[in-house]
Amino acid sequence: MRLFDLHADTLTACFETSEGLGDNNRQISLRKTGQFDSYAQVFAIFTPDGMEKPFDYFRRAAQYAIVQFYENRGSLRFCKTAEELRSASEQGKTAALLAAENGNILGGSAENLLILHALGVRLLTLCWNGENELGCGAVTANRGLTPFGKRAVRACEKLGILVDVSHLSEKGFYDVAETASRPFLASHSNAFEICPHPRNLTAEQIRILRMRGGLIGINLHRPFLSEKNAGLDDVYRMTAYFLEQGCESVLAMGADYDGGDMAPEWGSIDKMELVCEYLYQRGLDETLLDKLMYGNAYEFFMRNLKRGTT
Ligand SMILES: [Zn+2]
Repeated sequence: MRLFDLHADTLTACFETSEGLGDNNRQISLRKTGQFDSYAQVFAIFTPDGMEKPFDYFRRAAQYAIVQFYENRGSLRFCKTAEELRSASEQGKTAALLAAENGNILGGSAENLLILHALGVRLLTLCWNGENELGCGAVTANRGLTPFGKRAVRACEKLGILVDVSHLSEKGFYDVAETASRPFLASHSNAFEICPHPRNLTAEQIRILRMRGGLIGINLHRPFLSEKNAGLDDVYRMTAYFLEQGCESVLAMGADYDGGDMAPEWGSIDKMELVCEYLYQRGLDETLLDKLMYGNAYEFFMRNLKRGTT
């Protein structure tokens, strides 16, 4: 199978413990991903709310991530443009993309986005659970984007950094929809209709993401799949619901490895094959599964990453 996963905190965890990406005790290591016919991963550098000097932390962690990409250059390419993604995929290399999870690292300064971009960040999750200079997390309050948040969305689009609305409040989401002129994504968010958690997307938000050429990554963090102990059946129910909402070309995987509470059935990335097999047994055909597991995300990034080589 081919896998393109939109969200993992692996490199933040590796930075904390000085572990390598090639081999470690995390849910993702390159040792576990060799089985995939094609593999692309968005690696997030996560900075919690309330952290002192989050930009300094981010810079050190991002540098660590880039060193990990370099040390694994035999099998991995750090992709910053559509061409780089295509060539990594064609050469059978792991395609690594870098994301920043939490706009608090900007410290209210849009100029810091230039540094993010120079470091190779191509996706920014505007906020985490709390409130920052850009907006407010869905689990905290339903407040919209700040004027700076709107400026940051426009600056991201100019630079070619994709805007990620996962974690964002509902009002914030609609502000992004109003402000953005390009497609945006929810890298790791599920459907509220199936699991009524404030982190999940309403039917209307899903409709907007679909109409705007966006992308939605299914999150395998158990509390976002079901109010009870989530299992494979809940992954199927979530997937089936999104498909009923017309998301056949919008749906992807944003599993949240090394950041979420995973069931034993999908406890590390090498088990994604079993998840896929389960969905197949429940009636999703191979072509559709390949779109969900890889194709939709690949096409989205090919359409929305800037051209050129770096
Ligand atoms: Zn997250």
